[in-house]
Amino acid sequence: MVYIPKTTYQTPVTIINGSRPGKTLYVSAGIHGGEYPGVAAIALLAERLQPEELSGAVIFLHCVNYSGMINMTDALVPEDGENLNANFPGKPDGTIGQKIAAWLAEEMLPQADFVVDLHSGGVYESLTPCLFFPAAKQKVRKIAQDAAAVIDIPYCIASFSMTGHYSWAAMQGISGLLLERGGGGEYHSDEAKQYCRDIHNLMVYFGILNEKFFSRRTTQQIFEKTIYLAADETGFWYPAVQTNQRIKSGEKLGELKDVFGKNLRIYYAEHDGVVFYHASGFVVKKGFSNLVAYGLIK
Ligand SMILES: [Zn+2]
Repeated sequence: MVYIPKTTYQTPVTIINGSRPGKTLYVSAGIHGGEYPGVAAIALLAERLQPEELSGAVIFLHCVNYSGMINMTDALVPEDGENLNANFPGKPDGTIGQKIAAWLAEEMLPQADFVVDLHSGGVYESLTPCLFFPAAKQKVRKIAQDAAAVIDIPYCIASFSMTGHYSWAAMQGISGLLLERGGGGEYHSDEAKQYCRDIHNLMVYFGILNEKFFSRRTTQQIFEKTIYLAADETGFWYPAVQTNQRIKSGEKLGELKDVFGKNLRIYYAEHDGVVFYHASGFVVKKGFSNLVAYGLIK
């Protein structure tokens, strides 16, 4: 466990320095408390990998928002109610969440040649495997997209976010990917194993591990534009679509109703697309940003 500077907050870290020089891969999980498969994957890999096998290094941040995870607070840091992943580069004298972000931004991320941030759908979200790559800077984008080709995930989503964990790193010129597998507050060992294969393939790709790739079985599709539908008011969500479903422009996405079942609003697709994730809990708060997220198909 490592103390975040100027706090008594501890977060689990494993660094494996290889016996030969090479690149440094930075792998993080648990920045949102209710996302489990990535945390399980890092535990498996950190135990299994030996320095003699590696050229370069791997930095594992097992579970960045550790207090959030063990207190079961879904996405937020319980000490300050902040979403760490919207908080970069943080503040060294700010709240706990801001201090964690500042420590990552100032001390940990600059050591990385490439960043992989493992996520899942949140506790109230169903999700089909997808990945985000930083799209704002051409050079960083190319490095990320070339690396994404070794990940067995079909949907590759261009991200223009700037203040997230890996997005902020990308703005500093450190390329990376945000991977999404699983969700709904569940842990499944097959999702953790798939994450292990993803990290294995990235280590092979960057020359850190001298082994064979796990072959990719899916065909990849790039989405330049994604619509993230937010709830206009608090209500009860009756989805009409599922993850990984192809939808047509004008198709009903779901209904927001009050507690008596009276309709508040019906949402329709603005464009043909594919559903990446949607609210899978019954109740949604006003502003909940992932009622449905769908990538546009031309
Ligand atoms: Zn997340």
